[in-house]
Amino acid sequence: MTDLRSLPSVEHLLQAPEIKGWTGAFGRPLTVDAIRSVLDEVRAQYQAGSPLPDQASLIRRVGACLEDWTAPTLRPVINATGVVLHTNLGRSPLSRDAARAVVETALGYSTLEYDLKKGKRGSRLVHAEALLCRLTGAEGALVVNNNAGAVLLVLAGLARRRAVVVARSQLVEIGGGFRVPDVMKQSGARLLEVGTTNRVHLDDYEQALEEAPALILHAHRSNFRIVGFTSEPPLADIARVAHQANVPLVDDLGSGSLLDTARYGLEHEPLVTESLAAGCDLVCFSGDKLLGGPQAGIIVGRADLISRLKKHPLARALRADKLCLAALSATLLHYLKDEAEAKIPIWQMLSASPEQIRRRAEAWCRGIDQGEVIPGESTVGGGSLPGETLPTYLLALSVPHSNRFLDRLRQANPPLIARLQNDRVVLDPRTVLEDQDDQVLQILQTALRSG
Ligand SMILES: *Cc1c(COP(=O)(O)O)cnc(C)c1O
Repeated sequence: MTDLRSLPSVEHLLQAPEIKGWTGAFGRPLTVDAIRSVLDEVRAQYQAGSPLPDQASLIRRVGACLEDWTAPTLRPVINATGVVLHTNLGRSPLSRDAARAVVETALGYSTLEYDLKKGKRGSRLVHAEALLCRLTGAEGALVVNNNAGAVLLVLAGLARRRAVVVARSQLVEIGGGFRVPDVMKQSGARLLEVGTTNRVHLDDYEQALEEAPALILHAHRSNFRIVGFTSEPPLADIARVAHQANVPLVDDLGSGSLLDTARYGLEHEPLVTESLAAGCDLVCFSGDKLLGGPQAGIIVGRADLISRLKKHPLARALRADKLCLAALSATLLHYLKDEAEAKIPIWQMLSASPEQIRRRAEAWCRGIDQGEVIPGESTVGGGSLPGETLPTYLLALSVPHSNRFLDRLRQANPPLIARLQNDRVVLDPRTVLEDQDDQVLQILQTALRSG
């Protein structure tokens, strides 16, 4: 083609057989947009001195444009990093039962706010609450969108324009912009800091209580440790002095486990039931950390406080949706039926023995006839158990350009996310779901062939 007049028109291109197929698959308006966008681009390139492409290549570009515009950005990936609660990869995968509950609830109508016995309006707040109360022994429970929202709601609902006592050693930043002092500001509560960066004593709390604060907030150090000359009074002691002053104690646990992580060779992560037993009036935790469910913020504790929170306007703004409630209820049922370790993916991963993992790594190694199986470490991640690792076995591959190889694994379908260790590409079977083993092998074989 020699000049712009020879460029085919939109109408002309719409008659081409491939493009006719695309109008069926992508719809006519989007296809027309893609053609216009390619023609505009081609004209601009021509003005800048490039030759005009022929019709076949124009059509290819229209196809590429349509693929690009409609490609999903939220895609399933295979996690071979060995980080169990990988925040960037969506934290906790759901159990089959939880996923089924989501699908069933999503595809039709549900009793979200409908009371079947009375035949009239019910409350969405009942769904996971009874289960949470039964599991933790708490009087009341409330589920919101995420734990950051739960903490915000507690502060706004119980401490607006009033002081909240927090130890300086607990003024944490969780990541993603969640900083206790900032959340405090947003809620309208006033921060009353006590203690020092490394130590806080019971009398620090007692003195602060003389200022009649709205509550004491205890925040779990989910993602860092302080070591050395440190001290903190036991929660039960803080609860005792708080209650003498008639001030509630709130514990932001973050991961909020219902199972004892010490059973799996990890450090003991505080349990929700322990915080309640220590006398905390409210405990906040995430649904998608060590609970192994959907993204949610869970508040359990005193019925009178929970009922005040339920009436707060923020509770409406932060409310959990029906899909979350469906997944959360199904996840909680696993705990109630004492089958969490067998059914919830993150507990299957955390409880997998090094021997089981070694067998899978060896099978991968045999399958691709390359690399070696070496001992390594998996981590919990997701703001839980900082610095704690679990012994594992890794498939380690020495490839010429390890970064480029990692790239190729990420370009696979589904993408496979691995990591580098001492310049070798390593893959940890712990975080790969067992039914993904065949896919891992295929992806590795393809990537090795094209290397
Ligand atoms: C993770 C975490 C949060 C935030 O929870 P999300 O569910 O991610 O919103 C708040 N506080 C602590 C202590 C945490 O560990």
